[in-house]
Amino acid sequence: MERGWLSANQIYVHDHAFVDVIDSGFCFHGQQTIQLFQSFLEQHPSLKPRYLLNTHLHSDHCGGNRALQDTFQFSCLVPESEFASVKNWPIAKQSFDDLGQPCPKFTVVDSLRIGSTVQIGSIDFEIHGTPGHHPHSILLFAPSLGLLISADALWEKGFGALFSEVSHQTGFQEQRATLQLIESLPVKVVVPGHGSPFVNIQSALEDAYSRLDYLESSPQRNTHHVAQVLFQFMVMFTETLSLEEGLKWCFNTPLFRLSADQLGLSVEELFSQTLEYLQSKQNLTLSHGKIQYRW
Ligand SMILES: [Zn+2]
Repeated sequence: MERGWLSANQIYVHDHAFVDVIDSGFCFHGQQTIQLFQSFLEQHPSLKPRYLLNTHLHSDHCGGNRALQDTFQFSCLVPESEFASVKNWPIAKQSFDDLGQPCPKFTVVDSLRIGSTVQIGSIDFEIHGTPGHHPHSILLFAPSLGLLISADALWEKGFGALFSEVSHQTGFQEQRATLQLIESLPVKVVVPGHGSPFVNIQSALEDAYSRLDYLESSPQRNTHHVAQVLFQFMVMFTETLSLEEGLKWCFNTPLFRLSADQLGLSVEELFSQTLEYLQSKQNLTLSHGKIQYRW
């Protein structure tokens, strides 16, 4: 299911009896996520929903977990290093709050262990760790098909913002290792977390390496990019907000505040620079004191 930027793509994988789902989109799209899956089930009435797997716990990938679980009784599996925090929800909630993003509480039954294999539908997928964009993110690779489910570790053009560089100063190094890992796998087709599936792996990797070099050559540029991505995502799901509300969100979002700190800017300064940049890219508009996303 190719979704957009607010809701990540979803993958349904089934055998003759069960259907498993990878990632669940953003919570504000919960109804649409349910309807898409409902109409799939209507076309495949013999299938029963089984596992809901998350590549990583960002709200655009797991925000629909609760809606899918409440409606279809999915058993959820998350990366191993997130299992304990989801079991103890206040810890998981804090990680969503750090990014200023909502995610309804969901439950987990088991974890996805790096280095092991998981059967999804009838297909065996290897589980590999891909930190960089998110410290606990995984990718899923099916050797029998050469199919890579890359989440935000590799897109056709680029990869997800390197939050780990701002939070732990490890993002560049980890993303490079992640790209090298992908390069070592016999991949034929990639289903990314955002955008269409693609087969031109070599050109996607070249593009990603050159983007990584570009960001790494100026850590400040990377930090600005993280702040811009965070802010833009919030405007996308809020749709319209006042300047005061925008600034308040910046103050209340720990990763945005940390970005300002690292840049030696006040929160107000980073807020206005971010707003100016996103307007210059025509991603946002500001008129009569209202910030809006340009769809
Ligand atoms: Zn993500």
